[in-house]
Amino acid sequence: MERGAHSCLTALSTVESNAELVPIERDIALLRQSFNSVTRKLPSVDARKQTLSRLLSQIDLTFQEHQAAYPAVAVGPIVYNTGTSIRSFIFKPLPDTLIGHHFELPVNSHNPVAQLTMFIAVVSTVIMGLSRQMGNLVLNLVKLTLCWALQDSKGNMTERQSSILNQIPTTVETVLSKFNLDGKTTVFATCPECHCTYAPSFHPGSHTPSYPATCSNRPYPDAEVCSSLLMEEVIADDGARSSKPFKPFVIYDFHDYLASLLA
Ligand SMILES: [Zn+2]
Repeated sequence: MERGAHSCLTALSTVESNAELVPIERDIALLRQSFNSVTRKLPSVDARKQTLSRLLSQIDLTFQEHQAAYPAVAVGPIVYNTGTSIRSFIFKPLPDTLIGHHFELPVNSHNPVAQLTMFIAVVSTVIMGLSRQMGNLVLNLVKLTLCWALQDSKGNMTERQSSILNQIPTTVETVLSKFNLDGKTTVFATCPECHCTYAPSFHPGSHTPSYPATCSNRPYPDAEVCSSLLMEEVIADDGARSSKPFKPFVIYDFHDYLASLLA
């Protein structure tokens, strides 16, 4: 064993490339294995083991120095399993409650006729590239056709027929949300002057986002506070007043996006 250790050290002293380190690494592993297999407790054996242990430590140190001096160069393409990486990223830190919605499509609870109508709208906008307005037109034309086909000569419908029609939304946005194609987003308010962004905050129990009224950013050190207005007032058709950001900045939730790719 001692002779083997010395020959390893001699071989290490002449190494000039990483390829030459491979057989030496194998020899060192075999030496370690043999060293660990000696378990007899005798004073003479202990003394020899101590000498060998020092030699092995010296070999390890020299080997590590050579490894640093001649790093391994990958031949051919680097193999990287993105599937495993993404899965470990998604499924380990995120609980099922955050990704479960990708496996439960709201559209599945609708009548097949309503499902097919919504599917036509999704194909028109997502795959065929129609604008949202044209998508809405297609959706409402199909809905109107169904309405005329279902009602009798006096314009009456059964409860089931009117329920099917009521299940069909009137906008493509709603349809996409039923297929979980809209994704989770957060709308930030952007300052129109310095482009600083502000995250929304929510009052307990409320889903209405609120933002600071003015920008509190200093564009550069020692500058005045920007103080530009972030929000504009909006008056709805029914006269209700609300405010929305002058410059909304929509950010898609990255975890949600990755989860949707895997679902
Ligand atoms: Zn600003």
